[in-house]
Amino acid sequence: MPSQSATTERPDTLPLYVLGAGADPAAEKGVSCPGELPPPSDPNLVRRAEMARAALGDRAFVLGHHYQRDEVIAFADVTGDSFKLAKQAAARPDCEFVVFCGVHFMAESADILTAASQQVILPDLAAGCSMADMASYAQVEECWEVLEDLGIAGTVVPVTYMNSSADIKAFTGRHGGTVCTSSNARRALTWALTKGSKVLFLPDQHLGRNTAVLELGLRLDDCVVWDPRRPGGGVDPAELRAATMILWRGHCSVHGRFSARNVAEIRQRIPGVNVLVHPECVHDVVTAADAIGSTEKIIATIEQAPPGSAWAVGTELNLVRRLAAANRDKTVAFLDETVCFCSTMNRIDLPHLVWALESLQAGRTVNRITVDPVTAGQARAALDQMLALP
Ligand code: SF4
Repeated sequence: MPSQSATTERPDTLPLYVLGAGADPAAEKGVSCPGELPPPSDPNLVRRAEMARAALGDRAFVLGHHYQRDEVIAFADVTGDSFKLAKQAAARPDCEFVVFCGVHFMAESADILTAASQQVILPDLAAGCSMADMASYAQVEECWEVLEDLGIAGTVVPVTYMNSSADIKAFTGRHGGTVCTSSNARRALTWALTKGSKVLFLPDQHLGRNTAVLELGLRLDDCVVWDPRRPGGGVDPAELRAATMILWRGHCSVHGRFSARNVAEIRQRIPGVNVLVHPECVHDVVTAADAIGSTEKIIATIEQAPPGSAWAVGTELNLVRRLAAANRDKTVAFLDETVCFCSTMNRIDLPHLVWALESLQAGRTVNRITVDPVTAGQARAALDQMLALP
């Protein structure tokens, strides 16, 4: 068993509940910050952020995920999806601090891909990902043991979505699998199914199912869902033997909210609308939509769309709002009528960013995310395999 990923041993670093290592109801209740967290009402927040950012200069590199708030994105040196940001961090070996405005698994990936001398900072340690939390290391090991007992583990290649903890990426690397993103999931599954006859897809069942059925031409019946809370995953051994895709029962709490009814309703409200959704949406939504795309593809599709065209977008609301503001010559609507932010991503706000930048400026390393070398090495193998996908 690999050692669990861990936070730094520095005394000023908060203990962080390791995502993917179990359930901790306290983890989502917020984490107090050492020192003083500025109140959101502080009228000087923007000025303070500007001053701290300027003082840190090239020593710091601020990354902003597309789902972050506008107030945070305003200070990002680069924006992107999780993998683009991790690669950007790796391309800046000269900077001392990588301030990752995203969620915990992204900061872990940045730490794995950056030099040991670089420090990756997550401004709020409570910024986790509920999907990544749905596959713990112990649960995945238990699943693998069942597959071994059935004598089929040797035919199974694990493929884990980028949105997983470092421990799960390490598990995947150790068993000869690969990481994938929503952009390269088809290539990852194609590769895996030439190496074995089955895939264990972690932790997002919807990305796995949508890719297998809509892009590889498998049948829904070729997929089974492993529920980690049920004995034997709740799957009959005969079904496990027959399945091509063993999908982990995980989902995104944001994309999982969209329904086929949302698609039908928006077609009524906006005649001629093009419905564009993320592949983390449920299968019924994806099949009812006009187009599917990763975060980066959604952005490119809207930017390249002809003036006057209408789009209903099924992804995180901060991004959809920014797309609407930046493309006023088109109609860009949110697919759902209710609010759909990523609540954990939104934990990083301007007060936390100011606190993190000012702390670094004052010589205090706070909220550093580190992955232990053994876990990092195994996870890196799975990430490298993704980079080498044909
Ligand atoms: S949008 Fe979904 S997958 Fe992305 S960080 Fe939030 S909960 Fe996780």
